[in-house]
Amino acid sequence: MPGEILEEQRAFTRFEGGCILCATVEAELVDGKRVLFSNDDVMCVSPYWAGAPYELLIIPRSHDLHLTDSSPQTLATMGAAIRDSLIALREIHGDVAYNLVFHTAPHHYTGAYHWHVHLFPNLVTTAGFERGTGVMINIVPPELAAEQLRKVAVEA
Ligand SMILES: [Zn+2]
Ligand SMILES: [Zn+2]
Repeated sequence: MPGEILEEQRAFTRFEGGCILCATVEAELVDGKRVLFSNDDVMCVSPYWAGAPYELLIIPRSHDLHLTDSSPQTLATMGAAIRDSLIALREIHGDVAYNLVFHTAPHHYTGAYHWHVHLFPNLVTTAGFERGTGVMINIVPPELAAEQLRKVAVEA
């Protein structure tokens, strides 16, 4: 299993307040500073742990481990949310390259997890510090990134 998924699984398992992503959705709704948009089905947020500028996390609101567990309605809304996030990014950064990462629980896995999508715009390069330490330096606070993106985001 890829290390990224293993690390996330450990984070889900260690978290004691239920599901870490369901808790993230609730916590981010309180002041909304890092939220691009949210509706009954999905939330798009610039997570407080963002390692790179304008990194986004798109979370289905229903607690589903596997992408294939989600309802057609949730999947359709996730698709629209990805599109709308990319439109907002394009408004600010033009035709920027990006990576979309779908993280879903491993096949038959029944432990703690909640599938989600990462959106990483390729706006900066990793240099010696990041490569040497594995510690990312993010020059744009997620609150600022979210504020800018919110202004240009279409209503989801
Ligand atoms: Zn959850
Ligand atoms: Zn992930």
